[in-house]
Amino acid sequence: MNPLAFLHQPIDSSVSPSFRSSGESIALHRVNGSIVVNHLTVNYRSVQALKNVSFTVQPGTLVGIFGPNGAGKSTLVKAMLGLIPSVTGSVLYQNRPLVEQLERTAYVPQRSHIDWSFPATVWDVVLMGRVRKSGYFHRFSASSRRIAANALERVGMMEYRDRRIGELSGGQQQRVFLARSLAQEADVFIFDEPFVGVDQKTEDVLFRIFRELAQAGKIVMVVNHDLGESITHFDHLILLNRDLIASGNRTQVLTLENMTRAYGGHVRFFGNQVA
Ligand code: ADP
Ligand code: MG
Repeated sequence: MNPLAFLHQPIDSSVSPSFRSSGESIALHRVNGSIVVNHLTVNYRSVQALKNVSFTVQPGTLVGIFGPNGAGKSTLVKAMLGLIPSVTGSVLYQNRPLVEQLERTAYVPQRSHIDWSFPATVWDVVLMGRVRKSGYFHRFSASSRRIAANALERVGMMEYRDRRIGELSGGQQQRVFLARSLAQEADVFIFDEPFVGVDQKTEDVLFRIFRELAQAGKIVMVVNHDLGESITHFDHLILLNRDLIASGNRTQVLTLENMTRAYGGHVRFFGNQVA
C-alpha cells in the first residue's frame, strides 16, 4: 500500500463532515463514495501489463474503459478486485480497500473466459448471484428467489429459466450474467467486454440497465476494446495502453493525441469526432 495514497483522494467538500476542536473547524476523514485507484502496477513475469495507473471514479457514473487488445484492461479490473496481485498501488472504495468489500461488487468476466460446458441452467446461474447473501450451505430464501426472478425479468430472460446456459446465444448468455450481477445487489459493477458477439437487443438492454444502475448511485465500469458510436453512452472514459493515457469526459479523452497514443496509427473517425 502506498503510504501517500491519501494525498490522491479527491476532496468532496459537499459531503465532508467537520467538527470543532480547539476552536478550529477540522475536516474529518471524507465520506467519499468514489473508487480511487492509486499507482497500480501489475507484472506478469516479464510483461509489465499496467504501469502506475491512477484515476478516480465518482459514484453514479457509467465508466467506459477503452484501449487496444493487450492494453491491460482485463488486468486492470482483475487487479482492482484482487484476482491477480499488483506490484504496487491501492484501490479504495469509500475510503476502504475495495478487496475488503467484494460482497459489494459484481464482476462479469469476458465471455470467452467462461467455461460454457458446465451443466447449469439459466436459473442456477442467476441464483448463484445470491450465494454471498445466502451462504454456501444454506437454502436460498424466498426473498433470494424473488430477487433472482426479478433480475431475470429485468433482462427479458425469464422464459429461458430452465434452459442450459451453454445452449443460449452470446447475447442471451450476456443478459443472464447481467441478471446474476443484478441479483447480487452490488454497489460496484464491473463488466469485461460485455458487447462482444451480442445482438442489438442485448446491447440495448445492457445500456438501459447500466444507466439505471448509475442513476441509482452505483459505479458501473465497462471494458471495451474498440470505440464505436456507443461511446456516447458513457459519462466517464478511461483510455489505457499499459499506461493510463487519459481519464475524464469525452472532450478530455477523445483528443487526436490521446487516441494516437492509445491506438497508434489505427485511429478511426466518425462524424466529427475521433473514435
Ligand atoms: P486487454 O484486456 O486490454 O486485452 P490484458 O489485460 O488481457 O489486456 O493483457 C495485458 C497484457 O498482459 C498482454 O500483453 C497480455 O498478453 C499479458 N497477459 C495477460 N494475462 C497474462 C497472463 N496470465 N500471463 C502472462 N501474460 C499475460
Ligand atoms: Mg481483455
